[in-house]
Amino acid sequence: MECGYTLEWYDLIPIFSYISLKGKCRKCGTKLSVQYPLIEGLNGALYVLITAVYGLTLESVLYCFMTSALIALAVIDFRTFEIPVGFNIFILLLGITRVVYLLITGGEDGILLYIVGLFAVSIPLLIIWLITKGRGIGGGDIKLMGAAGLLLGWKLILLAFAIGCILASVIHVARMKMSKDENVSHVLAMGPYLAAGILVSALAGYTMINWYIGSLFSY
Ligand SMILES: [Zn+2]
Repeated sequence: MECGYTLEWYDLIPIFSYISLKGKCRKCGTKLSVQYPLIEGLNGALYVLITAVYGLTLESVLYCFMTSALIALAVIDFRTFEIPVGFNIFILLLGITRVVYLLITGGEDGILLYIVGLFAVSIPLLIIWLITKGRGIGGGDIKLMGAAGLLLGWKLILLAFAIGCILASVIHVARMKMSKDENVSHVLAMGPYLAAGILVSALAGYTMINWYIGSLFSY
């Protein structure tokens, strides 16, 4: 950022490059943000978690790609209040991959779960967007919930949205109370919270749903 030095491949090895450079630019010695190794570490930890849950499957591969996209779009949305459309297209392509895979392998009975997922949250949000003339929810958030809905299916995307909203209310209210920055109270970037909701739902959604339904009938 400071001196315009073009990073070489050996400057781009997650975590290790940061450690070997002792957190400083190779050319000018400017301190590098600790955010880089932290995000790289988070990404790696989530890859491990996803593989632990889903094994060496196509699902794991799709969810790992999704995780990296979610982390990047969450950080960008947090800073700029905008989700670049490329991330949503990328996640949509992952969802299409899953549907095509199901078609090829004769799993077409399960496809409806994902097709409905494409619309389950995105259409209600689109209606809110239309009613509030775009003030109630961001267009990028709607596309994200559509794309991730196709990949996760309607059950997990509904849960993801609920988790995202709970996280947003709790964390945003806390930030409003603590921060003196005017913008914090008026503008809410939903991307980071929705991304977190999608990740939690993809990792543990069915466990949570089964636990919840089980607890309903256990009385
Ligand atoms: Zn530099």
